[in-house]
Amino acid sequence: MRKKLIAANWKMHKTPEQARNFVDAFLLHVREHTRDEIVLCPPFVSIAAVVEAVGGSVIGVGGQDLFWETEGAYTGAISAHMLRAAGCSHVIIGHSERRQYFNETDATVNRKLQAALAAGLKPIVCVGEVLQEREAGLTEEVLRRQCSIAFREISGGQAAPMVVAYEPVWAIGTGKTATPEMAVQAHQVIRAEAAKALGEGVARQLRILYGGSVKPDNAKALMSQPEIDGALVGGASLDPQSFAAIVKY
Ligand code: PEP
Repeated sequence: MRKKLIAANWKMHKTPEQARNFVDAFLLHVREHTRDEIVLCPPFVSIAAVVEAVGGSVIGVGGQDLFWETEGAYTGAISAHMLRAAGCSHVIIGHSERRQYFNETDATVNRKLQAALAAGLKPIVCVGEVLQEREAGLTEEVLRRQCSIAFREISGGQAAPMVVAYEPVWAIGTGKTATPEMAVQAHQVIRAEAAKALGEGVARQLRILYGGSVKPDNAKALMSQPEIDGALVGGASLDPQSFAAIVKY
C-alpha cells in the first residue's frame, strides 16, 4: 500500500505572517491526521515561518523550485541544500507554470531532479499535457517524453524518494478536473515509463499524485482510486478549512 501524499502548492501567495496564520488554523483540523502525508509548499520567503509553525507536527514543508548548482553567482536562485538547511523535506520540480513562464524544459527538470535527490530532498516532479495536446490525442506521447527525459541518468536506487504529480495543464486553476478515469489512464502511462527507466520495483512503489482543480467536493472521487496516490493542490490549498477538507476527503 502506498501512503497518499497531499501537497499544497501556494504559488506566489502568503507572506510569512499569512503563512503562520494559515498553519495555526490548519493544525486545528489535522493535528491528529496520520492516514496521509501532508506537505505545504510556500514561497521561499515564507518557508522559515511555516517550518517554525508546523514544528513537531506531522506536516512537511517543501520548496516550489530549486536551481541545480550548489552555490555561486546565480542571482535569484535557491539550491537544494539551501532548501534542506531551511527545513524543507520536499521540493516541487517542473510545475507547468515554471515551464510556461520561466523557460523550464524537460532537460532542466532532469538536472533539478538529480540535484534534489543528491541533496536528500523528496522531489515532486510535475508532468502533464496542455489542452491542444490532449485534443490532438498526444497525451500519452507527451507524458512519455516528459518522464523519460526527467528520469535520465537516475538509478532506481536514487529515485526511491521521488514523487510524480500528473497535472493536466488544462485543469490547473480552471475549475476543470480530469475524470478519475482520465487520471488513472495517465498515471498508468507514467508508471510504465518509470518501470522502463527505473525498474519495476521502484515503479510499483512510486507515488503518483493528481493535480488540477482538486477541491473538497471532488477529492473523494479522485483519491479513492487506488492508482491515485494523493493530490497536488493549488487554489483550494490557500484556505485552511478547504485544504483540511481535502486532506480528510
Ligand atoms: C497546481 O498549481 O499545482 C494546481 C493543481 O493548481 P489548482 O489546484 O489551482 O488547479
